[in-house]
Amino acid sequence: MNTFSALWLDEQDGKTVAAVKDTTPSQLPDEDVLVEVDYSGLNYKDALAVTGSGKIIRDFPFIPGIDMAGRVVDSTDDRWSEGDNVILTGWGVGERHFGGYSRYASVRAKWLNALPTGLTAENAMIAGTAGLTAALCVQNLLDSGHKPEDGAIAVSGASGGVGSFAVALLAALGFDVCAITSKQNDEYLTRLGTSSFISFAEMNAPPRPLEKQRFIGAVDTLGNLVLARLLAEMHYGGTVSCCGLASGPQLPTTVMPFILRGVRLLGVDSVQCPPERRQQAWHLLAQNIKLDTFDLIHSGTLNLVDLPETAELMIANKIHGRYTVKL
Ligand code: NDP
Repeated sequence: MNTFSALWLDEQDGKTVAAVKDTTPSQLPDEDVLVEVDYSGLNYKDALAVTGSGKIIRDFPFIPGIDMAGRVVDSTDDRWSEGDNVILTGWGVGERHFGGYSRYASVRAKWLNALPTGLTAENAMIAGTAGLTAALCVQNLLDSGHKPEDGAIAVSGASGGVGSFAVALLAALGFDVCAITSKQNDEYLTRLGTSSFISFAEMNAPPRPLEKQRFIGAVDTLGNLVLARLLAEMHYGGTVSCCGLASGPQLPTTVMPFILRGVRLLGVDSVQCPPERRQQAWHLLAQNIKLDTFDLIHSGTLNLVDLPETAELMIANKIHGRYTVKL
């Protein structure tokens, strides 16, 4: 291998500057596994890093990209061999460690998961951190014993990356899915498998300690009043998977749902989540999300040159959905 392309971030006069550069293997860190990257993705955190809008990157020059999928080309660790198809999300990659916006990435063996049968590298990156997080949330609900015949599951921030995969996965598993969204009767959400809608405005009102029981479970990406209301509207023994704070980090609730209805609130973190739990979640996605659903959620494919401009649009809230990056 001589040189390959990577997107480098540098700091000039206090501003972040992104440029695609010819890169040599000696510029990569010396970790256990060398991966030839086929696809990465564009997450909000990536957009913050690439545009410098958020203080995501501390040390420059730096290669961002929090998600990657590709093939092992060299490994000094027994867990991986040349030719293995792998996925990497989280672990601080693309934030503190060089990331996936590079044709080659040198990474730690424990950060990798096997690409599950039934999933292509491209589809894995359409899912990326968002899809993995959705699957971890849904796994919580399944582990809690909830079944489709028990009642409906709510998904908040339903049209976002996490929400879209949560809706699609729950619908594929046979659940009635209620989308909490600012987009009423949205065709996209209906095609993903939504069976009913509740407006964000309705859910964004302070609840009484206990409300009418509406849901057996929920995937919450919003936090704040919506999460408080979801807890108050859970059936006896219901479970809420909480992963996001798009509406704010507060949780203005009481202990009543927990002590009078046995409601469970389970947190989800996709960054430090153990590899075994991730593998289970990737299998859940691979086995249940149909190919045309990936196509529906996929907003477009970028190359490294296009990426900074699209990241600016994402920060300006002018684009939505899941973008992949082809290396
Ligand atoms: P997106 O931006 O793709 O989607 C968020 C959705 O939430 C939007 O599409 C919109 O849905 C709704 N929304 C956005 N802003 C607001 C607002 N101010 N008030 C109410 N609703 C709003 O984000 P993701 O799906 O990628 O992430 C969702 C959340 O999950 C974020 O907070 C993110 O930080 C978090 N996250 C956590 C992870 C973890 O490991 N715990 C991993 C990945 C993400 P609609 O139009 O349908 O109303």
